[in-house]
Amino acid sequence: MGVRSFFVDMAFPVVCAGCGDHPGRLICPSCLVNITRPRGPSCLRCGRPTQYPVEACNHCREHLKHLDGTVALGLYRDPLRELIHEFKYRGVAVLARPLGAMLAAEVAPRLASGDFLVSHVPAHPRRRRERGYDQAELLARQVSSCLGLPFAPLLQRVRHTRPQVELGLEERLGNVRDAFRPSPLCRSDAARERSVLLVDDVLTTGATLSEGAKVLKEWGTGAVIACVLARDLPDGQG
Ligand SMILES: [Zn+2]
Ligand SMILES: [Zn+2]
Repeated sequence: MGVRSFFVDMAFPVVCAGCGDHPGRLICPSCLVNITRPRGPSCLRCGRPTQYPVEACNHCREHLKHLDGTVALGLYRDPLRELIHEFKYRGVAVLARPLGAMLAAEVAPRLASGDFLVSHVPAHPRRRRERGYDQAELLARQVSSCLGLPFAPLLQRVRHTRPQVELGLEERLGNVRDAFRPSPLCRSDAARERSVLLVDDVLTTGATLSEGAKVLKEWGTGAVIACVLARDLPDGQG
């Protein structure tokens, strides 16, 4: 394989990124319909399945004080898990378009007003350099353009944190503490009292998103809604 075709294949996989089949499709129809949608009652703040719909579950009340809601496209299971993996770790940046558009469609009916800014949980600059892009930023830009809402990078990552996936809940909360600072835009008046859709790829415990929301609110934003491709359930619920 020549260098050029290698890079073309990286950008446009010749098979579906979800199942590795269906030549010529980025996401095939069967992977699209097989994304596991969150179903049944859940916690409105963190998206965790519950017996009855609740505004905030015990976990949220204790640990996710700064989030006001969560919207997830699906649960963190294949094929969505595989799509996110290709998008995040295997350089298939072009997946931001269909994934971002589906996420926007999920969010749209739940927006009470059109007064939202779309922001993202930024990767550390070093990680961004390694990957060549920041996957949460690409998603946020797509969501913003689909919904006709302004894209506003409000956070900067200042600390290189260990991957959350290696850690338990208490460690996760400590790991992301002080990981973000407000961007110059956040410190300006532009974001004051504006509601924010805070985009990331996966929400597991919500520690990272909540820490980001904390910084935004300290600098005067209104409600912060987490907006993610997948809701992971660390304790095997659902
Ligand atoms: Zn497929
Ligand atoms: Zn909750």
